[in-house]
Amino acid sequence: MSTQAGSEAASATGTHEFRAEARQLLDIVIHSLYSNREIFLRELVSNASDALDRLRFEALTREGILESSEILEIRIDSDAEARTLTISDNGIGMTREEVIENLGTIAKSGTRQVLQDVDASKTPSPEIAELIGQFGVGFYSSFMVADKVSVVTRRTDEEKATRWESTGDGEFEISDDQRFLRGTTITLHLKPVDEDSGLEDFTRFEIIERIVKRYSNFVSYPIRAKRTRTAAQKDDPSQPTVEEVTLNSMQPIWTRPAAEVSDDEYNEFYKHIAHDWNEPADRLLLKAEGRIEYTSLIYLPSKAQFDLFFRDQEVGLQLYVRKVLIKDRCEELLEPHLRFARGVVDSADLQLNVSREMLQQDRHITQMRRWISRKITDHLQKKMKEDRAGYTEFWREFGRVLKEGVGTQAEGADRLTGLLLFESSHSEEELSSLAEYVERMPEDQGEIYYLTGESRAIVENSPQVEGFRERGYEVLYLVDPVDEFVVQPLTEFEGKALKSAARGTVDLDEKTDEASDEKKKRAGEYEGLLEGLKARLSESIKEVRLSSRLTSSPACLILDEGDLSPQMERLLQQTDSPFGTVDPQKRILELNPEHAVVTKLQQRFAEDKEDPVIDSYAQLLLGYALIAEGSKPPDPGEFNRLLAELMAGGL
Ligand code: ADP
Ligand code: MG
Repeated sequence: MSTQAGSEAASATGTHEFRAEARQLLDIVIHSLYSNREIFLRELVSNASDALDRLRFEALTREGILESSEILEIRIDSDAEARTLTISDNGIGMTREEVIENLGTIAKSGTRQVLQDVDASKTPSPEIAELIGQFGVGFYSSFMVADKVSVVTRRTDEEKATRWESTGDGEFEISDDQRFLRGTTITLHLKPVDEDSGLEDFTRFEIIERIVKRYSNFVSYPIRAKRTRTAAQKDDPSQPTVEEVTLNSMQPIWTRPAAEVSDDEYNEFYKHIAHDWNEPADRLLLKAEGRIEYTSLIYLPSKAQFDLFFRDQEVGLQLYVRKVLIKDRCEELLEPHLRFARGVVDSADLQLNVSREMLQQDRHITQMRRWISRKITDHLQKKMKEDRAGYTEFWREFGRVLKEGVGTQAEGADRLTGLLLFESSHSEEELSSLAEYVERMPEDQGEIYYLTGESRAIVENSPQVEGFRERGYEVLYLVDPVDEFVVQPLTEFEGKALKSAARGTVDLDEKTDEASDEKKKRAGEYEGLLEGLKARLSESIKEVRLSSRLTSSPACLILDEGDLSPQMERLLQQTDSPFGTVDPQKRILELNPEHAVVTKLQQRFAEDKEDPVIDSYAQLLLGYALIAEGSKPPDPGEFNRLLAELMAGGL
């Protein structure tokens, strides 16, 4: 049989193989991933609850799918003798194609990517296990407790049901079946009880009840099971009474007073709605009272979602109207750069059948988005102050999304500036916010300085920052490739202009008349040399001038106001750049008039304007400055030849 779920294979009855990745994942899940096997029930209940939600969504727009009297529910039945556990729902169900697609393949591209690097025959490293854990493996977790799993499902609108069966060893069987009502029944043929490895007797009511209460208490459909009582029937123990019980409270967690809900319950609810296996980092329970009333429970995940930067990522908060879920991912409720947040919003003032267009135009929704987004950024600002280590962790996971918001000047971007963190000359370990930078600024410093570059080492050692350090001015090191885009719209912070340390108009000279007279005099003295060098380097240099930002280096390259930074230029010169290619730009070469190389060169020039040593030194100075900023000399071979010559002369 085909390993591809193509259209022909998809409709065939018989044996199918799992897609390679699904198979690998299955092996990992069964053999080594989870010590906590009982969570299989949470996964199956969560799928049943999703299927009921989807049925209800469809019923919102189509008549006749759902009778108003019908009770939507999830059932858990067990048979101790046969050692089976059955989880069923009267939700949307699946067509045959859906069964093959959903249970035989892994649709999530992130999981697939991770699995490419995993050798399923070996125990996965904790990092890999954690990664897989992040994506969740849902349905497959049933093989942690079962030798065989069968699924019988009938999609609403369809007449025939489909049976899917597998022993989790790489193949599954597909056949026709019957099911009186629409929905899905999953039967687990349980492995023998082995409490040492977490295999409890999952057919026992008390155990089922405990697991459901622990992980699925908030599920909004009744989860029903049969309780058998023998003790009450003292005279005839062979005639046990059987009663139907609802195991979960079904009370929406956000409607309960926070003091009554345990962290554990909040966290399980997060895992349920976020499809995340990790604990959340923070949560916010928000209540808006006023013209529009709504409650919102927001979580900040502890780990970035793998698809955070994918274009088709599904984002947004769950939207409830008076406790009824009406949209699973409502992106209109969050500003785009806060899309990592998960949670729910429950409003009393919206209509049940809100359409997409309505959501986009609705004034209430816009107000809710602004308010919720502000609450999240306020929370982050507070976290930065009060729990710096926690904030730094958050920043490492999600900082890039915030930067994206600043760079694209998105709605609410002004509230993000204060949340940015950068490397800085102030500290090797600690990142710095703009506010912290400003606080440390000496009185005579009027601007915020930064330098972009490929790595901290390159930026830190680049000649451009020498003068700043000398004067005790801090420089922010912007070493993330996206930082270029972040600082472009960011022209000032708290009234202080942001300036690149490598741009033309930074003037670090003392602002006294004497100093400027001295400078003029020297500029006149060096004029000939500067012109001479410019003529020799005219292919790559548009101006040569004296510098005030150098202390120990002889030369550096500077940008004009409108020029692209070398970082950006390199990015654009890559042949596959999405922006098209750019012609190399000419730069400004600055020389340090205090440096021996420059003063001696000036002497030689004064003696003989055509001295060939000037030609070589022009090339050497240019190459030096290029290497210092992380670029390459235009002709590395020629540069090396000159350098070797120089080295030989020095011995
Ligand atoms: P996830 O729930 O994260 O999508 P799962 O592995 O838990 O991943 O489930 C895979 C898919 O199988 C679901 O997305 C759904 O389409 C389908 N599915 C699983 N259980 C049911 C069910 N009880 N009713 C309908 N569809 C289901
Ligand atoms: Mg699931």
